[in-house]
Amino acid sequence: MTFVDLRSDTITRPTAAMRAAATDVPVGDDVFGEDPSVNALQERLADELGFAAGLFVASGTQSNLLALMAHCERGDEYLVGSEAHTYKYEGGGAAVLGSIQPQPIPQAPDGTLPLDLVAKAVKPLGDPHFARSKLLALENTWGGRVLPQDYLAKARELAHRKGLAIHLDGARLFNAAVADGVPARAIAQHFDSVSVCFSKGLGAPIGSMLLGSEELIAKARRWRKVVGGGWRQAGSLAAMVNYALDHHVARLAEDHRRARELADALRALPGLSIDGPHTNMVFVTPAAERVPALDAHLAAQGIRVFPGGTSKRLVLHLDVDDAGVQRTIAAFRSFFV
Ligand SMILES: *Cc1c(COP(=O)(O)O)cnc(C)c1O
Repeated sequence: MTFVDLRSDTITRPTAAMRAAATDVPVGDDVFGEDPSVNALQERLADELGFAAGLFVASGTQSNLLALMAHCERGDEYLVGSEAHTYKYEGGGAAVLGSIQPQPIPQAPDGTLPLDLVAKAVKPLGDPHFARSKLLALENTWGGRVLPQDYLAKARELAHRKGLAIHLDGARLFNAAVADGVPARAIAQHFDSVSVCFSKGLGAPIGSMLLGSEELIAKARRWRKVVGGGWRQAGSLAAMVNYALDHHVARLAEDHRRARELADALRALPGLSIDGPHTNMVFVTPAAERVPALDAHLAAQGIRVFPGGTSKRLVLHLDVDDAGVQRTIAAFRSFFV
């Protein structure tokens, strides 16, 4: 049986054309800064997003960690959403490895951190009771939701007024840009650093990039080596990412369209409450007592979702086509009607 895998947009496999793009590319030792394909990719995305420099790394978690460690020192803190990936889903890396204290801020349902709460959470300077507030970290998209442009401008203004830098966990930056109909740079311009994932909707097998000033990226490069992330001939991976940036950005609109079609069809079913679509994601909540039976039914139909839980996240991506959406709708329909 073939599966329709809606668990995450990380499950995509590189296409034949993407794999072909990785053959016969010039490579070198990236710890020495000598991989031409990595360097070209870093320059390309830095230019596109309006930064001085970029650093190609293995994962989004590593990219965010390096950003936190480059912006903050031991005894500093970053302000971050209480449901943010950088706070909740990265193993506490900033505290574990950076001696950096997180200051979580309860998020509004649209993913924003209310700016009055942010302002209140910034610690007074010079008082030894407090960690030193250094950074505000946002996430866009968050749970598929696109943060409003005017919110980003206000958050930047507040952060800078309070003497903080501002970082974006833009794992799905390109989903946000495509949904807003703006170049990714229009979102990135509000931040001192941005982390972008290539292994989500863009369909590359591995890789993320941290973008920022020359000085910030130099610090991040040092920390990348320290945490064991210095890699050597990474140029073949960079070539796949380059291919993804050429061919898989505009098509994110197809994932968003399919998410809408899926949400519209599921909304018509009794017994299911639907949240979304939010870019490439739809959240469905059945009655709690029906979850085990629904999980078994979907599994039998070849529809992969994470079992258990109450609200289920369905994620559209490169490896789910229109037929996959129709199969998913049919599987839900045969359970709920
Ligand atoms: C996936 C993700 C990350 C981390 O990326 P990995 O490559 O899985 O480490 C960070 N932030 C957000 C919002 C993500 O969705």
